[in-house]
Amino acid sequence: MMRVMTMRGVPRLLIFVLLVSVSLVPINGDEGLLESQDTYQSSGTPPVIDSIIIADYDEFSVGNFTGTEFSHLNLSVKLNEVESIVEGNLTVDFYNDDPVPFSRIPFHLYPSGMLYDSRQGNITILNVTTMGNPAQELPYGVLWEQQLMWVNLTEALQPGERTEFHIEFITTLPDGLDRANVHGEDGSQSRIYTFSSSYPIPCVYDKFDGWNTDPYVGFGDPFYIDMAFYDFCVNTPDGMTVAATGELIGSDSDGESTTYHFDPILPVREVTFSASRHYQVESGNVNGVTVSSFYLPDSQPEWEDDVLEWAILTLTLLNETYGVYPYSTLNIVEQHAFYGGMEYPCQVYMTRGALESVRAGSLYPEFLELVVVHEVAHQWWSQLVGDDSIDWGFLDEGLTCWSHNYYGEVYYSDWEYLQYYRYLDTVRTHHEEFGVGSVINQSNYERPELVGYIDYTKAPLILEKLRVEIGHEKFVESLSHFFKQNYFEIATLPDLQEAFEFVCGQDMDWFFLPWFDNPFLPDYSFAGVVYNWTDDTLTVTIEDLNEDLNLYSYSQRVPVRVYGYYNEILLDEIVWINSTTTFVLSVSTQPAEVSLLYDGYILVDLISYDVDSLSTQSIRFVGTPSLTEFWGSIPMEFVAAFAVTGVVWILAFYVLRKRSLRDAA
Ligand SMILES: [Zn+2]
Repeated sequence: MMRVMTMRGVPRLLIFVLLVSVSLVPINGDEGLLESQDTYQSSGTPPVIDSIIIADYDEFSVGNFTGTEFSHLNLSVKLNEVESIVEGNLTVDFYNDDPVPFSRIPFHLYPSGMLYDSRQGNITILNVTTMGNPAQELPYGVLWEQQLMWVNLTEALQPGERTEFHIEFITTLPDGLDRANVHGEDGSQSRIYTFSSSYPIPCVYDKFDGWNTDPYVGFGDPFYIDMAFYDFCVNTPDGMTVAATGELIGSDSDGESTTYHFDPILPVREVTFSASRHYQVESGNVNGVTVSSFYLPDSQPEWEDDVLEWAILTLTLLNETYGVYPYSTLNIVEQHAFYGGMEYPCQVYMTRGALESVRAGSLYPEFLELVVVHEVAHQWWSQLVGDDSIDWGFLDEGLTCWSHNYYGEVYYSDWEYLQYYRYLDTVRTHHEEFGVGSVINQSNYERPELVGYIDYTKAPLILEKLRVEIGHEKFVESLSHFFKQNYFEIATLPDLQEAFEFVCGQDMDWFFLPWFDNPFLPDYSFAGVVYNWTDDTLTVTIEDLNEDLNLYSYSQRVPVRVYGYYNEILLDEIVWINSTTTFVLSVSTQPAEVSLLYDGYILVDLISYDVDSLSTQSIRFVGTPSLTEFWGSIPMEFVAAFAVTGVVWILAFYVLRKRSLRDAA
C-alpha cells in the first residue's frame, strides 16, 4: 500500500491501537555477538553457507508447476449495481501443504472491518456444502468480531491431502473509502465498484502462529495469503468496463449482463475486480505482458500515456533486476480510497484522492509516479514473494520502497528523486523529534503508531545503508537471490539475511542485528583525542552514547577528517566505528581539530537534519616534538613578527655601526 503523506510525513491514516498481541518469534542471534566488517575480512575463511539450487524459480518463471501442489479456488461473482452487493460462489479445493492435520479451516471475512459511512461492509455466508451429489451441508461458524469463518471438515485433512467444498455468500460493498467500496456518481462519471479482499479467503497456517486469523486492521496492510490457482468469473450489468486479476479469456452477454472469465493462469494470492461505466482503457505490451490502465474521464490529463509508461518502465527494470514477473497481464486501475495506492496480484490501484491532492497542491506532482511505481514493485515484494504483512510488514514495504527509489536512481539518476522528505534526514532526526526509539524487526501490533515511519522510511533506508556497506552488485544480486529462493512462497527477515549471507559469503549478523533490532541509532561522541609528538600519532576514541540503550553494537564506516591550525586538511580517512572504538591515525604535523563527517549515508542520531559533522578541538598533547615539528608548531604570525623584528635589529645595528665608524673618523 502507499499512504498519502501530510506535510510532516505523518500518515493521514487513522491508527486504531488494537489491544491484541501476536507472538512474533525473535530472530536468531546472540546478544552482544558482533564484529565489524573488517574483522570478518581479516579473520580468514568466511563461514560456509549452503548453496541451494533455484530449481523452482527456473520452472515456475516459465509457467511450469508440474509436480507442485497448490489449492484451487473457483470464484464466480455477480455484481448488483443498484444494491452494491455481490453474490458469490466459491469452490475451494484446499491442499494441505503444512505438516499437521486440520479438522477445520478458517477463512477471513474482511469487508466488515473496512471503513464505511452509512453502509457497513459484510460477507453473509448462505451455506457451505460438500461437492457430492446430492451436496451435503458442512457445519461452519462465523465469528463476527474476528471477521472469521471456520469450516468444519467431516474428517481430518492429513498433510499432503486435498479436500473440496463449496461456499455460497453475499458481499455487501461498504460505502467508505477503504480497499473495497462503491463510491462516486454516474452523473459526474466517477462511480466505481471495487471488490477487493471481499470473498472468504483461506487463512495461512505457519510455524510462528499456527493459523493466522488476524482481523482487518487500520495500520499497515492486514493481509497474509497463500498462493493458489484461481478461476475467476465476474458478472456485471451490460455497459460496464471490468478490470480484474488475470487474463480475460472470454465474455458472454445475455442481453442484460455480461460474464467475464478471467484466468491468472499461474497461482496468485487473491483476486480483485473493479468495475465502472466510465473507465477509459489504454494498453501496451512489454515482453509478452499486456499492461493496461483504467481511469475516469476527468483523470485523463494525468493518467493518459504516463501511467502506462511508468508501469512499463517499472516492469522492465524489476524484471531485469530481481527476476521474472511471470503473468500475462498487469492492470493499473483508478479507485476511490483514503490512501494513495494498493497492490493485488496482476492488478494495482491508484486512487482518485491522490490525483485530487496533487491537483490541489497538497501533494507534490511526482507522487502519482511514485504510487504507480511503488504498487507495481509490490508484484515482486508481497505478491510473488509473499509475507505476513502484519508481523513482517516492514519487509515487503521496505523492499518495495527501496525498489521505487531505485527506479528514481535508474531513470532520474537519483535514489532520492521520489523522496519528498529525504529518508536520511527523517531517520536521523526521528528520535530527537518524537522522543521514541523505533525497532524495525517487530510486528505492526507492537508499534502501530510507527508503521508509517518504520515500514516506509526507516526500513528502506536501512536497506540502502546495506547497499552502501557491501556495494551495489552484491546488494542487487542478494535481492535477486532472495526473490528466486522465495518465488511463490512466504519469506521472513531471516530469509533475507540468508540470501545476503549466501551472496556475500559471510555471516551478516554484524549488519542485520543492530540495524533491524535496535531502537536507537548510534550517537557518537569524542571520548578522547591524544596527539603524540614523539611518533606523530593521533589516537581518537569515539564513544556511542546510545550503546546501553540498544541490544547490539553497531559497525559502520565513517569518514574522519583532521584539520591543522590554518584550517587546512591534514588527513582524510575512513574508519570502522564499532560501538566504543579507538583508532590511531598518522598525522605529520600538529592537529587542531578532528571531525567525523556525516554528509554520506552515516546513520547517527542528530538534533537537526542540517548537522553534517561532529568535531572537537579538545586535543591532548603528549611526547616531545622533533625540531621540525617544533618549528612547524610555531604559528606563522610569530615567525613573521620574529623575522620583522630581526630585520629591524639588523638595520638598527647597521645604522648605529655606521654612525660610530663616522664619529670615529
Ligand atoms: Zn506499499
